[in-house]
Amino acid sequence: MLDPSDAARVDQVTEAIARLLKGQPSPLQVDADAPQDEIRQLAVYMNQLFIEFDHLNAAITALSQGSLTFDSPGRLPAANAVKNLQAALRHLVWQTRQVAEGDFTQRVSFLGDFATSFNSMVEQLTANREALLEQNRLLEVTAITDALTGLTNRRGARERMILELHRAVRAGFAPCVMMMDIDHFKRVNDTWGHEAGDVVLKALAGVLKKNTRFEDVCARWGGEEFLIMAPEKGLEFGLALAERLRARVEENVVEYNSQRIPVTISIGITTYWDAEDLDATVRRADGHLYRAKNAGRNRVCGDLG
Ligand code: GH3
Ligand code: MG
Ligand code: MG
Repeated sequence: MLDPSDAARVDQVTEAIARLLKGQPSPLQVDADAPQDEIRQLAVYMNQLFIEFDHLNAAITALSQGSLTFDSPGRLPAANAVKNLQAALRHLVWQTRQVAEGDFTQRVSFLGDFATSFNSMVEQLTANREALLEQNRLLEVTAITDALTGLTNRRGARERMILELHRAVRAGFAPCVMMMDIDHFKRVNDTWGHEAGDVVLKALAGVLKKNTRFEDVCARWGGEEFLIMAPEKGLEFGLALAERLRARVEENVVEYNSQRIPVTISIGITTYWDAEDLDATVRRADGHLYRAKNAGRNRVCGDLG
């Protein structure tokens, strides 16, 4: 049997444990003059346990409120689990930030269903981004392609010419630029109809493409005007090419609804002069084209005549 004062001290510890179990922990007062015995030791341990519970409680409360910033959850076995959870959630926050910044390689293997949803969301984002990039590539191509003939349009031609001209000038070449225009094209439309005119434009584009090299710029400049630039090829090559193109077009009578449509073109040819504005080159080629028209059409006129 304990003596009454010891029994009272044991009761205090018992009540403290009961309060803790009811979720109302409150530390025990350990009197300085209390005997140094097992009951005092029990009370001291009890108070240490309260402190550990306090730490753990504060950490879990913070976690439950969505905060990952809290003091150490203490030393109880459950504290380790809380620390692991804190580390895993911090990693998840980091991974989410990476995804937000465009790193779609992140995958989560934590939190079961959440991981499945997170991963499928990132896969969806990847697929959407791919589709968008593909659409942009297509749009970029469409923006510089002539829909009727499939040749590059004026915008695409200008971009490529500016690039090629700088490159050619650096390499010491004066690239040739030729402007061509279908002769009496209005008559084609008037005689055989607009659709026949379109067929002629497509056929002409085919002849031009077939008789130029991959590295040449071969463009529909507008309406029934076409432009060709042969980078790293001078006037002599250009004149021969222009004459060949003129002859091929003339030979290539276009068939439309079992009717034969003769087509000829006039060509103006010049070379790019170092450092001049591209528009000046095109204007010069246009001037020669105008001369070719006036001289009777179906011919080539250039800087040399
Ligand atoms: P010239 O020999 O002096 O060049 O005579 P032309 O009849 O060709 O004269 P012009 O260049 O003024 O006429 C061009 C015509 O080309 C007018 C326009 O209706 C036609 N055209 C322009 N773009 C297209 C097109 O995409 N399809 C068709 N079918 N016709 C077009
Ligand atoms: Mg014209
Ligand atoms: Mg014309």
